[in-house]
Amino acid sequence: MWHLIRPDAVSVWELDDVKKRLGRYFNIMQDTRLARYLIAKKTPLVGEIDEDSTMEKLWFLHESARGKFEPLLKKMDEFEGEAFKKLEELETPKVSFLDLKALIAERILESCHFCERRCEKNRREGEKGSCKVGWESYVSSAFLHYGEEAVLVPSGTIFFSGCTFKCVFCQNYSISQEWLTEEGKVIDGVKISPKQLASYARHLEKEGARNINYVGGDPTPNIHTIINSLRHLDSNITQLWNSNFYNSKEAMELLLDVIDFWLPDFKYGNDECAKKYSKVSMYFDVVSRNHKLAHDLGSGEMIIRHLVMPNHVECCTKPILEWVAENCPKALVNIMGQYRPEFIVARTKDYPEIKRRPSSKEMRKAQKTADDLGVLWEPVS
Ligand code: SF4
Repeated sequence: MWHLIRPDAVSVWELDDVKKRLGRYFNIMQDTRLARYLIAKKTPLVGEIDEDSTMEKLWFLHESARGKFEPLLKKMDEFEGEAFKKLEELETPKVSFLDLKALIAERILESCHFCERRCEKNRREGEKGSCKVGWESYVSSAFLHYGEEAVLVPSGTIFFSGCTFKCVFCQNYSISQEWLTEEGKVIDGVKISPKQLASYARHLEKEGARNINYVGGDPTPNIHTIINSLRHLDSNITQLWNSNFYNSKEAMELLLDVIDFWLPDFKYGNDECAKKYSKVSMYFDVVSRNHKLAHDLGSGEMIIRHLVMPNHVECCTKPILEWVAENCPKALVNIMGQYRPEFIVARTKDYPEIKRRPSSKEMRKAQKTADDLGVLWEPVS
């Protein structure tokens, strides 16, 4: 369904370069390709699992199921407009690739390493790590978003409470950091089960969403809820991952086969800036690894968001754009100019170097760097 509220949401698809890079996503909207999770649901496991299966065994089975998933995906793509019918004709496996992913996600929760903070807390038993998200997931809001990139709107956006980062300039701090009190009382978010999450997605699709956009805060602490919700969903709609991309390698393995569209942030060009402003370690290695995985082994259809920060063009913007040009040539990049001092930066005298908006000179420099490197940014910025 086309919505004409933003004309560029239609005209952007007239650009060959955009259509070429995001072709599968476009075809899911046309119902001539299937969302990956639907295919994961029909992919059988080769081998048995039970409650006592070790993680090693589960990952082994995951790898072999992927060996079946990939050819099935390819085959379904060849059926084009008949794909949904052909998929329905396939037998539903007793235990599917998607079921296995849900089980692994539940296990990860018992010693949480959904992100590279690797808190190893047993969230199922009520322990909480750095993100403070427990076993249950909380959603702050879910609605059709018309402010995302032209190719995405209207986007069925679901905002989870809680975040794996602690950005001192966070523009969404009421959802990411201040969603619960010191005493642990939730003040921004409602508890949501996997079934309810699936019904949100269904509702958003009926309203005309082009995709289901998992964001926050950050969606990462809620991977178990999200993957489980897909077991209750049957709509052919793009699954979109909108994240700081600090996921662990294991989390990426779970997501690679069910996410159709990647919308990751690439904030910092070095670990020092990441430590100073978001309080995380090993930033560049982790985030660049995940970009590479999504680009090379995942769908490869992605818009990388880079927020230009004042006084950070040389140390962050330039190295990021250089890295993207070299390693993720198919990606589009949204060069974002909407940074403004918020949260800790606005409340204190700390961080004076980022206590202003980026200047137009800095924005022009970022855009020129992208042009010089051949990075495609204009249609999505
Ligand atoms: S999601 Fe990340 S920050 Fe939260 S508990 Fe798990 S490892 Fe820690």
